[in-house]
Amino acid sequence: MKVLTRVYEVKQNIRPIKQKGIKIAFVPTMGALHQGHIELLKQARFYAHFVVLSIFVNPTQFGGNEDYDKYPRDLDNDILTIKKNNIPVDCVFAPSVQEMYPFLEIPQLTLPFLSQKLCGLSRPTHFDGVGLVVLKLLNIVQPDFLIMGQKDYQQTVIIQRLIDEFFIDTQLITIPTVRESDGLALSSRNIYLNAEERENALILYKTLNSIQKELKIGMNALQIQSLLKKYRETFAQNGFVKLDYLEILDAYNLVPIQEIQRGSKILIAIAAYIGKTRLIDNMVLEI
Ligand code: AMP
Repeated sequence: MKVLTRVYEVKQNIRPIKQKGIKIAFVPTMGALHQGHIELLKQARFYAHFVVLSIFVNPTQFGGNEDYDKYPRDLDNDILTIKKNNIPVDCVFAPSVQEMYPFLEIPQLTLPFLSQKLCGLSRPTHFDGVGLVVLKLLNIVQPDFLIMGQKDYQQTVIIQRLIDEFFIDTQLITIPTVRESDGLALSSRNIYLNAEERENALILYKTLNSIQKELKIGMNALQIQSLLKKYRETFAQNGFVKLDYLEILDAYNLVPIQEIQRGSKILIAIAAYIGKTRLIDNMVLEI
């Protein structure tokens, strides 16, 4: 496994792989690797013989008041995790900020509509930053398969749009969310939680499960709204958890559902602050 920090090195390593017709799968991450990332890497190997992992805490996707400075970074430990557990990775790309953004003026990529919903309401520039860095990374790695987690469902919808908009030759593969045994979705931000917050964080998964059981074919927009209202109120009563959003949307285009029909693909999405930590989770149901 090679650990590279320069764009030209990655391109040099990728070129002969592509020339031999070997398929490449790419897993972009911000590091602090956990079982969720590891699952993505294992799945990547099913799709391709050459697996590239990027580790880059991308500044352009953090808002001014967010946790960019404090986001966990430990490249040595991430590499140890990969080696110790025999995770199938051929090349790690861990660039500096200057390597990814070589010019003082950072270009603006605006991804309207999809990026302003759900997480975009409280993080209005987040998905533009994600789109920008993923576009750069795809140009560097040129993978046949891009592997991402359903945990960040909105991100997958936006990146699919980016791929379609810019005619990029890559296939997006979305991997189901990896959870702790009690249901909490694995996240690099879970390390911010103390024991009590860790317990309170379970409300996200419990809420998704409860809502899932109540959704039925034939439910209309009004009934969906009253269901959401009921669950939003339980958050208002819980002093330890502050709801950011709880929505039920069409999973293809993130618009409100008029009526649940057979064949509907439905997203139940939630984001909440547990203490100071913002966590997200979702479920996708194919009715
Ligand atoms: P991050 O390092 O948080 O930017 O995540 C990198 C990739 O790992 C993204 O595609 C995430 O959706 C994915 N990911 C993060 N947590 C999980 C999880 N619990 N299960 C599956 N994929 C995940």
